[in-house]
Amino acid sequence: MSVPNLPKNWRANLEADANELGFESIGITTPDAIPEAAERLARALKDGHHATMGWMEETAERRGSPTALWPDVQSVIVLAMNYGPEFDPLTVLDEPERGAISVYARHRDYHDVMKGKVKTLASKLAARHRETFPDIEVKVFVDTAPVMEKPLAQAAGLGWQGKHTNLVSRDHGSWLFLASLFTNLSLPVDKLERDHCGSCMDCHDACPTNAFPAPYRLDARRCISYLTIEHHGPIPHEFRKPMGNRIYGCDDCLAVCPWNKFAHAASEVKLASPEPPRDDDLAGFLALDDTAFRTRFSGSPVKRIGRDRFIRNCCIAAGNSALPELLPAVEQLTQDADETVAEAARWAEAELRKN
Ligand code: SF4
Ligand code: SF4
Repeated sequence: MSVPNLPKNWRANLEADANELGFESIGITTPDAIPEAAERLARALKDGHHATMGWMEETAERRGSPTALWPDVQSVIVLAMNYGPEFDPLTVLDEPERGAISVYARHRDYHDVMKGKVKTLASKLAARHRETFPDIEVKVFVDTAPVMEKPLAQAAGLGWQGKHTNLVSRDHGSWLFLASLFTNLSLPVDKLERDHCGSCMDCHDACPTNAFPAPYRLDARRCISYLTIEHHGPIPHEFRKPMGNRIYGCDDCLAVCPWNKFAHAASEVKLASPEPPRDDDLAGFLALDDTAFRTRFSGSPVKRIGRDRFIRNCCIAAGNSALPELLPAVEQLTQDADETVAEAARWAEAELRKN
């Protein structure tokens, strides 16, 4: 829908509504602003970099182009919420008695937090313009639908897709959750953000598993985030030692980005955490049965992977810990009903006995 007569303050109202809901950045682009995205995705799929995430292949066509997802879309409003930690997320890696859980997963599930807020913003946008544009439609996607939010965010000027493949912002560094609103209103767009990585390779140098085959390319098959969260079955041996005590995700490439010096801690109250939670001792995790796991991670993204995958990861962290006090728990898990857990526990037991 072409909109020649937007009210003068439409952008200020939209930004005010977004800020009030906790979004710190907002940008607008068109659905055809990312022509290279489909090609980039096709190359990653061809190279097998999506590992076993078959849904990426299944949704590739819709992912590659917003109009394939919704033919009437005229404008894409991209929103970013900062989840920057107030603490150094990497210090936990030097504490083998603890399990390192990725910063984003230490909070309530961000899908829940964002979804509600984006829907509220969509309703406000529609309500503000319905009188002038009765046919206005607004659709909401929060990471669960196949939207290529990172290139769209770059096109909308929120940041650029760094060499670690995530979005980097000059204002917020690498700690951003993204969401988008699609509308059939044709809105004025923002300027694309250019790449400011320069000669920096810090994220590549920091990766414990060499998961970047080249700048701007990530091979999920080698990435600890993928291996600990998405991957089913045993974790390949070559990645077990580099995992250290990372039991859910990995923050290394994000945390070392020099642009984080401009980041500030999350202000959105549901995401803010003044200090790293201390309730993450491996001994406690190793003892979780299915019920206790569900209770412990109720409302957390960690719950999604289920007890068995989580305990598999904890066994590997225990094997890397050199802490003999974890041996009894690990020995018990060698008899676990889940063979992947039992195998990881046998590996951990052997590692612990080497010390
Ligand atoms: S998340 Fe960790 S393992 Fe994955 S690419 Fe980044 S540094 Fe490497
Ligand atoms: S660490 Fe350096 S190369 Fe990687 S995304 Fe940040 S600026 Fe770019």
